[in-house]
Amino acid sequence: MPGKTSIEWSQESWNPIVGCRRKDEGCEGCYAIPMAHRLAANPMTPHYAGLTHTIKARVDWTGKVGIAPDSTWIYPLEVKKPTVFFVDSMGDPFYREVEQHDRDRMMATILLSPLNTYQLPTKRPEEALAYFSDPAWRQRVADLAEEIHASTGGLGDASQIERLRRGDLAVLPNLWLGTSIALQKHANARWQSMKALQLMGWMTWVSYEPALGPVNWHGWEFVNWMVGGGMSGSYAKLNPMHPDWQRTTRDWCESHGIPYFFKQWGDWAPEALAMRDSWPADRWHEWPASASPLGLRAACVRIGKGKAGRVLDGRTHDDHPPYAHEVAA
Ligand code: SF4
Repeated sequence: MPGKTSIEWSQESWNPIVGCRRKDEGCEGCYAIPMAHRLAANPMTPHYAGLTHTIKARVDWTGKVGIAPDSTWIYPLEVKKPTVFFVDSMGDPFYREVEQHDRDRMMATILLSPLNTYQLPTKRPEEALAYFSDPAWRQRVADLAEEIHASTGGLGDASQIERLRRGDLAVLPNLWLGTSIALQKHANARWQSMKALQLMGWMTWVSYEPALGPVNWHGWEFVNWMVGGGMSGSYAKLNPMHPDWQRTTRDWCESHGIPYFFKQWGDWAPEALAMRDSWPADRWHEWPASASPLGLRAACVRIGKGKAGRVLDGRTHDDHPPYAHEVAA
C-alpha cells in the first residue's frame, strides 16, 4: 500500500513492484526484508507472499518479485496535491527479475503525473541505463500510458503522452534516478552508468546511506543531489559511521553547489552528542587520526537512531533540488 513514509527525504512511499535480492554490503541491514516478511503474513498484502524465506534463522529474499494490486498502481494519479514519492522502498525496479512490462507501467504512471516527484534509488544503475538506452522505451511507455488513461476514466495528464511521442521529452523530468553507495568500490563500479544517465538528461543523485566507509567523490560533480546517513537497525552495531565521512561529503557538495541532505546519524552518534561517562565502554568506537579523511581522531557511541538525531555540526542539512511541482509553478 502507498503511505506516508518515515524516510526524512521523501513524503510517501510507492511500492508497485516489490521483492529483490541482496546486491552488496549496503544491503546487510536492508529493512525491506523483515518488513516484506511480515507483510507476507497479512491477507491485505498477498503480493508479498513468497518473497522472503528463513535460512539458518536469517530472513532473506527468495529472489521473487511481487506486483501490487491496481489500486497501488493508480494511487499517484489520484493524489490531490503534488506529492514526493520514494519509489520502491520495498524492492528495486531495476533488479533483473523485474519484467520490462512492469518497468514500463511504472514509467507510464510517472509520465502521467508530471507534478509528482519520484525519487528512485537503485543499486543497479547499469540496468537502468540498459532500459533507457533502448529507444523503444518511449513508444512502449506512451502506449501503456494511453491504456492507463483510458482504463481509469481519464486519470493523469494525457498531454504528456504526446510530448513523449513527439520527442519533446527526452527523459521523465519528474523522475530522479539515484544510486545507493556505501563504499568506494560501489562508487567506482556505478560511476559510468550514472554518468551516462546524466548525459542522457536524467536528474541523478546519490544515496550515501548507510555509509560504511569513506568515499572520494571526485568525478561525481554531475549529480543533482546527495543524501547521506549512517546505519540503524540490528546490523548497525557492527557498522559505526565515522563523522568525517559525511563531513567531507557535505563539504564537497557545498564546494560544487550540490544540495546535500543529511538523513540521520543512525544508531551511532559522534562523541560531541553524548556524555562519555554515561555510556558503557562497549558502546564506544574509536578511530585513530589515520582513519579520518581530515586526519583527526574520532569516537562515536551507540545511543540509538532517535537519540542520535540528524544534526551535523550544529545544524540539520535538508537541501534538495526543486520538486517537479515547484519547477512547473
Ligand atoms: S537493493 Fe535495496 S531492497 Fe534490495 S536487498 Fe539491497 S537494500 Fe534491500
